[in-house]
Amino acid sequence: MSFAELGLEPGLLRAVQSLGYTDPTPIQEQAIPLALAGRDLLGCAQTGTGKTAAFILPALQLMGRTSGPGGQGGTDGRPGHGGRPPVGTLVVTPTRELAGQIEEVAVACSKYTGQRIAAVYGGVGYDPQIRKLRRGVDLLVATPGRLLDLVQRGDVDLSHVEILVLDEADRMLDMGFWPDVRRILALLPPKRQNMLFSATLTSDVMRVAGPTLSDPARVEVAPSATPVEGVSQAVYPVAEAQKIDLLVRLLEEEKLDRVLVFTRTKHRADRVCRHLERSRIKGTAIHSNRTQSQRQRALDGFKDGTYRVLVATDIVARGIDVDSISHVINYDLPSQAQDYVHRIGRTARAGASGTAISFLAAEQANELREIELMLGEPLPCRDLEGFTYMQRLIPNPDRTAKKPKPRLVYNGSRRRRR
Ligand code: AMP
Repeated sequence: MSFAELGLEPGLLRAVQSLGYTDPTPIQEQAIPLALAGRDLLGCAQTGTGKTAAFILPALQLMGRTSGPGGQGGTDGRPGHGGRPPVGTLVVTPTRELAGQIEEVAVACSKYTGQRIAAVYGGVGYDPQIRKLRRGVDLLVATPGRLLDLVQRGDVDLSHVEILVLDEADRMLDMGFWPDVRRILALLPPKRQNMLFSATLTSDVMRVAGPTLSDPARVEVAPSATPVEGVSQAVYPVAEAQKIDLLVRLLEEEKLDRVLVFTRTKHRADRVCRHLERSRIKGTAIHSNRTQSQRQRALDGFKDGTYRVLVATDIVARGIDVDSISHVINYDLPSQAQDYVHRIGRTARAGASGTAISFLAAEQANELREIELMLGEPLPCRDLEGFTYMQRLIPNPDRTAKKPKPRLVYNGSRRRRR
């Protein structure tokens, strides 16, 4: 199916073309026609499936019809309540990185249709965001805390929102943002179109989705437990005390180009970074204790190759959308098996292949078991040749896990503008 067949208007089709998207991804194919028909959506899709364009494109088209430039609604720059131009579409997302990336997609998609896009998130100054809001915003991407601050200061008018997108709802729940989201919902007009996207549809997500969505159509591309195609996975058993040496040796000896390393805590991320520095390996860390500009610098440096290694914790890594990550290294296994899939999905993007390496200390045997149960098969164990292991950890070779029915996520070839 082509984008034109999904019912998108010419300006959006041109934008999609200049983004280099030739065919819609499965989630786009499902979601766009339903959204254009005005339906509420309950979407189960993880990052990497093309879900951002799946909600941005119909939102831009629908606003164009009822309110955007040339329309008759309230977001054409005319003052709304309190003299501020009201927002037409609101996208709420958990992290600054995701907000920035959604904004980027929205700006690119609105290139020929002219809607005004802005993103507001914490960790940066208020003034540029407020200036942009005053000029008028048709589609606003926001993290919950900063949005509420701006509402309280009287800088945002949400009383004309026609379309609400709740992105990564499971993560917003995990991060404790739902009370803020509920406060935001209370500020919106009751008659609106809602789209809720989540990597997993847990009972918690369903509980909060229920009152938010009205007769939603469900769109789904893959269960979140599906590993991404094209990622080869291996476990390296190693004592906790030797993890750092093993990491340095791997980075020194193997052909690891662009490497994303996951640690369990911010503190451990910083410590790994310091060790890399001592070994003259170019690395940087990204976690929620770093300021927004530090995070951006780390991410930009990783993208442009200044840093070969990016060390991250799960929460911020959620939004890392970087092409050609050759290796993901789980320095610490995640405590939630689901996060394993999110982590390894950072590699093998854009149709490329990738490798996921997991360090396994004796203390993390249970975590490995949970992951293997979820994957439905044991992961192969490897040793690094020539590395002197202090102690041998050999996971039970008879590990068997019940294999669930395999379902694949979209991982077709993608071209990007970047
Ligand atoms: P997302 O799941 O929204 O984070 O998108 C993942 C990546 O897929 C982004 O880099 C998009 O630019 C890219 N992408 C989205 N839709 C398409 C498409 N139809 N064809 C090719 N690439 C796409």
